[in-house]
Amino acid sequence: MTPRTILQCTCIALYTHFVAKLEFSSMANITEQEILTHLGRIIEKKSGKDIVSLGMVNGLVVKDGNVGFALEIDPADAGEMEVLRKEAEQAVYGMNGVKSVSVVLTAEKSSQSAAPQKPAPKQPAQKPEVPGVASIVAVASGKGGVGKSTCAVNLALGLAAQGLSVGMLDADIYGPSLPRMLGLSGKPSSADGKKLKPMEKWGLKVMSMGFLVEEDTPMIWRGPMVMSALQQMVFDVEWGELDVLVVDMPPGTGDAQLTMAQRVPLTGAVIVSTPQDIALLDARKGLNMFKKVDVPVFGIIENMSYFLCPSCGDRSDIFGHGGARDTATELGLDFMGEIPLHMDIRKTSDAGTPITATEPDSVHAEIYKAIAVKVQEKIEASLADTSPTFVVE
Ligand code: ADP
Repeated sequence: MTPRTILQCTCIALYTHFVAKLEFSSMANITEQEILTHLGRIIEKKSGKDIVSLGMVNGLVVKDGNVGFALEIDPADAGEMEVLRKEAEQAVYGMNGVKSVSVVLTAEKSSQSAAPQKPAPKQPAQKPEVPGVASIVAVASGKGGVGKSTCAVNLALGLAAQGLSVGMLDADIYGPSLPRMLGLSGKPSSADGKKLKPMEKWGLKVMSMGFLVEEDTPMIWRGPMVMSALQQMVFDVEWGELDVLVVDMPPGTGDAQLTMAQRVPLTGAVIVSTPQDIALLDARKGLNMFKKVDVPVFGIIENMSYFLCPSCGDRSDIFGHGGARDTATELGLDFMGEIPLHMDIRKTSDAGTPITATEPDSVHAEIYKAIAVKVQEKIEASLADTSPTFVVE
């Protein structure tokens, strides 16, 4: 594990959902107080004090013998604190009636404290790898409704059509749409109560919050919960061996997007935009976010680029076609392709029968596959670029 493997384990919020939804069987009724008493015997070496009186234990959740909590640390100590995290996990695991334990290292308070901050290191942050996953591509958009999820699904299928093993992660924890778009229902299973097995459809391995909560359940997330939920959806899933994991990002540039970009080892990102200026302005925000966190942006896809009349085949540029291509050129980015606004795309996408899987030889599927080839080239180039970064202090 790399020293920066903080917050890799499990989050309290998602954990609670997992626990509830997977219906772990009840064991003994262990209480929070008993756990705190146990944790109070663990000494943090630097201060010589125990982790409970130091106020390091946060967000303790106990449910049916499943325990989760966070250890508040200084991010600079992440490496050594991993030992403490394991110690705490072992200590609770050894208690009677405890079935599973998830301990997360968090730097929430220290990052918000009024104390003068050390200057950020110049090197890019080390992100933990996802075992077995060779590359991760985020599909993002500056705002909702531009067809990002539709593009993500068809891009993933296009990559699979190139012979790659592909997974999809629905990172839109506020409005997960992949179960519906892929025609997937049911709940993922877990062999050990810790890691979830992804669901499978159209040759893709898929994980979405939509499998774990009912579609009409309102999701209320606090910032740290979002962070941990997303991390768990990436790291605590048995992806197996994947060439690419396509991440359908939530729209916008808020907490969830930043978490993915900062904590997950993204190989690159693709931005989906409609041609309208306003959408492009939003797309620029997305671009800047990835730039800030050193994630390469592979390029822009223009969705709903033009309208193809299903009856006469006539083309109309109803949203002012070409804006994304111009923006891409202006920003020195690659233009990955343009997808028409077409009834067949909407119908198949909304019916859970994505066009690239169900009509692989159609014009539209060919467009998605051509974009997938470009993305694949970008991934390969990005992975080949292993030149070390030298930092002159
Ligand atoms: P987002 O993820 O950006 O919110 P979605 O992928 O959910 O957007 O798409 C929003 C709606 O637009 C869906 O009903 C989808 O079927 C439809 N849609 C997306 N792309 C196209 C397209 N190229 N042609 C026709 N309908 C589309």
